[in-house]
Amino acid sequence: MCNKCLMRRSLFSAGMGALAVTASVAAARAQPVRSADTPDAALARLVEGNARYVAGKLNERDFSAGRAARAQGQAPFAAILGCADSRVAPELAFDQAPGELFVVRVAGNFVTPDGLGSLEYGVAVLGTKVIMVLGHTSCGAVNATVEALQKGNTLPGHIAGLVSSMKPAIEPVLKSPAPDLNQRAVVANVQANVLRLKAEKPILGEMVAAGELRVVGAYYDLPTGKVVLV
Ligand SMILES: [Zn+2]
Repeated sequence: MCNKCLMRRSLFSAGMGALAVTASVAAARAQPVRSADTPDAALARLVEGNARYVAGKLNERDFSAGRAARAQGQAPFAAILGCADSRVAPELAFDQAPGELFVVRVAGNFVTPDGLGSLEYGVAVLGTKVIMVLGHTSCGAVNATVEALQKGNTLPGHIAGLVSSMKPAIEPVLKSPAPDLNQRAVVANVQANVLRLKAEKPILGEMVAAGELRVVGAYYDLPTGKVVLV
């Protein structure tokens, strides 16, 4: 039995699965249909949605119309590991409805143990086909990390923990000082977390190797709203 199957079985045999089992028995006929069933199609759907967002041509939606169906289950086609920044809202940036995106957010969009567990759940249990690590221009968490590394200062409270978590990905960028240092740090942080997710065992790495999942990196350009793959 593969690791994904083992995970599904263990989740369903634990309390976490009881809710899903109860719901699935009552609503076996009403499971939502995933809007993209391959990793490539899922990524294309994100790209197309962002193009609509940039052009100001969002799909019209009646949110109340889908609530009853959404109560029966979820089948998000994509997962986003994004920053907590209030200006970067994944459902808006990709023009997606509730139920389409499985979103994990933390300032600095880096992998945490709980965030990893959430992404594994989204992929292995909910069937999400692509994970996008989504940074953005002018990221306060990245800028703070760059400054802390340059000046050697320590940020107050638990903010210091963000810096120490992001340090390994960003520190190498400091060796080449240039005017675009902060943006290069944004990209380096995204790429490092993509590599980490691709290598995570036993769930994500196995699914990437099997072609069942893609992990990609991108940044959101605040002035234009465009998502650029990196
Ligand atoms: Zn940010």
